Amino acid sequence: MPRETNSGKRERLDHLLRALKRAYPDAHCELNFSNPLELLVATILSAQCTDKLVNRVTPALFRQYPSAVDYAAAPLADLENAIRQLGFFRNKARSIQGCCRALVERHHGQVPNTMDALVQLDGVGRKTANVVLGNAFNLSEGIVVDTHVTRLSNRLGLTRHTDAVKIEQDLLTLVPREDWTLFSHLLIWHGRRRCSARSPDCLNCELRQLCPSVDKASAKRRVPPARSAAQSLP
Ligand code: SF4
Repeated sequence: MPRETNSGKRERLDHLLRALKRAYPDAHCELNFSNPLELLVATILSAQCTDKLVNRVTPALFRQYPSAVDYAAAPLADLENAIRQLGFFRNKARSIQGCCRALVERHHGQVPNTMDALVQLDGVGRKTANVVLGNAFNLSEGIVVDTHVTRLSNRLGLTRHTDAVKIEQDLLTLVPREDWTLFSHLLIWHGRRRCSARSPDCLNCELRQLCPSVDKASAKRRVPPARSAAQSLP
């Protein structure tokens, strides 16, 4: 198959964007929050965890710790206890407290609104910073690349990379800046609702006509692993 040119890819991306916007007109961040600090904490909690589970824990957590000062001063055991339902709760409690102590010491208890300042905070990488900037501050400095965006970008032929930083670089050259935040929501929604890791629903997919992996992603999983020569011996 001839390799797709960059302009061909851009044109296909325009169609993909339109189809995704039609399919998910309400796509948005599925973590519940009412201010930048809540979103920062919820995003740290969401590592290796579903948003639904995080949303079950955060209402009580946000009531108990309404400000960065509250997290910074809390006994670590209490903070761990408040998020015990989530995986890696000990590490997450330490990250949240470290992050909030830095907010108090360096930012008057406020969440900064720049990539450079955010990624200096404990437990905050580029992905978390992009979530906070795009959704709490409405600033587009990049594209959130999580597990869904990684999988979908590859299946849709928008990148050949598996490294999040390289995927983001590829996407930034294709997606119009005004859609950077929305684009990751659209891919995440599509990944959750249609194109799951294990069983992509290609038959009913809104992107069928535009996707180079159509009917291949699911077929791949049905092929039994090849047996090695040694395994084939009686
Ligand atoms: S056609 Fe299949 S592999 Fe492609 S996006 Fe849709 S569900 Fe995923």
